Amino acid sequence: MGWEFETDPEFQEKLDWADAFVREEVEPLDMVWPHQQFTPLDGPRRAAVQPLKEEVRRQGLWATHLGADLGGQGYGQVKLALLNEILGRSSWAPIVFGCQAPDTGNAEIIAHYGTEEQKERYLKPLLEGELFSCYSMTEPHAGADPTMFKTRATKDGDEWVIDGWKFFSSNAKTASFLIVMAVTNPDVSPYKGMSMFLVPTDTPGVNIVRNIGLHGEPLNEGSHALIHYENVRVPADALLGGEGQAFVIAQTRLGGGRIHHAMRTIGLASKAIDMMCERALSRETQGSLLAEKQFVQGYIADSYAQLLQFRLMVLYTAWEIDRYNDYKRVRKDIAAVKVVMPTVLHDIAWRAMQVHGALGVTNEMPFLGMVTGAAVMGLADGPTEVHQVTIARQVLKEHKAADDAWPTEWIPRKLDAAKEKLAEFIEAEVGNL
Ligand SMILES: Cc1cc2nc3c(=O)[nH]c(=O)nc-3n(C[C@H](O)[C@H](O)[C@H](O)COP(=O)(O)OP(=O)(O)OC[C@H]3O[C@@H](n4cnc5c(N)ncnc54)[C@H](O)[C@@H]3O)c2cc1C
Repeated sequence: MGWEFETDPEFQEKLDWADAFVREEVEPLDMVWPHQQFTPLDGPRRAAVQPLKEEVRRQGLWATHLGADLGGQGYGQVKLALLNEILGRSSWAPIVFGCQAPDTGNAEIIAHYGTEEQKERYLKPLLEGELFSCYSMTEPHAGADPTMFKTRATKDGDEWVIDGWKFFSSNAKTASFLIVMAVTNPDVSPYKGMSMFLVPTDTPGVNIVRNIGLHGEPLNEGSHALIHYENVRVPADALLGGEGQAFVIAQTRLGGGRIHHAMRTIGLASKAIDMMCERALSRETQGSLLAEKQFVQGYIADSYAQLLQFRLMVLYTAWEIDRYNDYKRVRKDIAAVKVVMPTVLHDIAWRAMQVHGALGVTNEMPFLGMVTGAAVMGLADGPTEVHQVTIARQVLKEHKAADDAWPTEWIPRKLDAAKEKLAEFIEAEVGNL
């Protein structure tokens, strides 16, 4: 029997170390330098953060997202899930551990599809944590349906020329390079007519028009860029993978990215439950603690059960990825995790916020950021509805239509069949009467 729910003691020691390290050494960075994790390190931030990164390396926990075959530690997704649960508590922790999105997914596709030169130029510094990258796929007029993308790359001698608009290109303003998806052959199906390019951000013609922020951030100071690619010339070897391979590459990238978000979401939701319980045990009203009110007990119980279900789902899916090493084979369950994730985070954060009363909705507590985060989880890497369609299609493939107008489980016919099968016993029973 292979159904184990235990962590091997050696890795548990590493997790215990990571847990204490994130709480004591990394969470203070969230307080002092909020929203600056993707700004290249300089001055005091470098002095504070670099030693932490070095400590993570000493512990063998740096950049654990890549498999051994791609030059990483090869811990696998289950161990990564257990670690990411801890890192999900803090915005800075993934940076300090070298496994932040979107760089993890970008590193994964360069490791898979990049040439040796591309790995040397982009992957190596990315894995060293010295630069950031951006994945530039969504367009202003179309996101959920990539077959509608219009950004064009045309061949001109030894160069490609890229023209078009991209929207919500996260971290473009601090990234050293962009991975751009563009139409290279409009005459074939989009699944075969789009390609990926590695484009240094300082290439002439890469125009960041606006840096869109999420709710609460000042206008034009956010991290999600609207980019106008205007006559951007890159050499032929800027192509990542083969011409026409963009969809295959995107699936490799997004499969991993989605499950990594889910792992970190467990950590964040778990932090919200901790805060909800602390508040329930601390606040008294109408003669008793909140912890003694049945409504609040309901919040706590529902949150615990919801997170337990989600966690088991994520760990099981991580185990499947390790087992089959094939995102396509596991895509139904990755989609299921992606669909459930926003609701789990939203519900738990919302209940925790409610239990904190007025303080809960202020900018002195993190709950509204979590609620926004839940909404983001329902959009980034594809909207929930699209993943629901993926699940439904996969599930339906495992079923077939009924042979006639009556469902297979129609009781009258099943009863007739059962009577026929058990006729000799029924007769004996009648005979006994
Ligand atoms: C915080 C954040 C970071 C992001 N970072 C990046 C990034 O780094 N790079 C990048 O390229 N993109 C990024 N995105 C963009 C993201 O991938 C898109 O927002 C997403 O794919 C949806 O595209 P859209 O916003 O154009 O919505 P649309 O495609 O316009 O869809 C709008 C809504 O229509 C509904 N809908 C869409 N399709 C279907 C369907 N088939 N069936 C039923 N209903 C449907 C859904 O409710 C959906 O939310 C980011 C988004 C967010 C919020």
